[in-house]
Amino acid sequence: DEMDVDTIWMDGEFVDWEDAQIHVLSHGLHYGTGVFEGARCYDTEEGPALFRWDEHVERLFQSAKPYEMEIDHTPEEITEATLELIERQNLESCYIRPIAFYGYDSLGVAPGDCPTRTAIAVWPWGAYLGEDALENGIEVMVSSWRKHASSQIPTNAKTTGLYVNSLLAGEEARRNGYAEAIVLNKEGNVAEGPGENIFLVRDDVIYTPGLSESILDGITRDSVIEIARDLGYTVNDTASLSRGELNTADELFFTGSAAEVTPIRKVDNVEIGNGSRGPVTEEIQQKFFEVVERRTDEYDEWFTYI
Ligand code: PMP
Repeated sequence: DEMDVDTIWMDGEFVDWEDAQIHVLSHGLHYGTGVFEGARCYDTEEGPALFRWDEHVERLFQSAKPYEMEIDHTPEEITEATLELIERQNLESCYIRPIAFYGYDSLGVAPGDCPTRTAIAVWPWGAYLGEDALENGIEVMVSSWRKHASSQIPTNAKTTGLYVNSLLAGEEARRNGYAEAIVLNKEGNVAEGPGENIFLVRDDVIYTPGLSESILDGITRDSVIEIARDLGYTVNDTASLSRGELNTADELFFTGSAAEVTPIRKVDNVEIGNGSRGPVTEEIQQKFFEVVERRTDEYDEWFTYI
């Protein structure tokens, strides 16, 4: 199989990869009514370890709330299933994708008696934007697409339907030769990437858009804020950043469970700082990898060991 894994957990059972199927009339397929997570298990000095797993599971259940979706499994069951999936397949490191969505009962927009289906898949996945991106940074484009306002759809819930906006923004950027997009919110301020939060460094102070800017409350964002403060930086995590401030930043970087800490070296045609990974970004990125690979015993409470 393509993902190099043979087992998926679905609705309480471990099933073969090719048997993890759903009906074409599933509500979630037609209306984007799914909630999901993306987390990582790192190959650490202490063996495989899930990074901030409890926060991911908590966010999954929180994401389901506005849709009144009842996930038929406890957080503990989701955790047990995930640990067993990783163990059974002898994975040292992997990406973890839990998803809950409305299955089939009827196809009215009202989910009615549609069952909530739940699945978890794990698979090896390297650097999301490439190894080179981590070292040298990426070139990004400010998308012509705006983020949903949180008055239109809850942007702090990780809902499958939201990601059509991410696809539009990301593909527009790639069509234009950029690696990724920056998406502005409805007010025209900087929100985030299609699958990343964004940070800006200016005069050694770190800024990241606040939760009211229509962003996902990223778990890597939260981790980086804590790491940066522990390194002695001032972090403004309720910033409202204009598009123009991107151009004049000393440094910019993305964070995400998939993207980890990825420097941004260029926005549209403008070089950021000296056009390569900046020193603050590098310090935070190095600390981040030291932490997730458990080369330090700090932040041990962030890890769930297999
Ligand atoms: N924003 C969006 C839109 C995302 O999809 C993601 C990835 N989950 C993030 C931010 C980063 O969040 P996290 O650090 O929790 O992965």
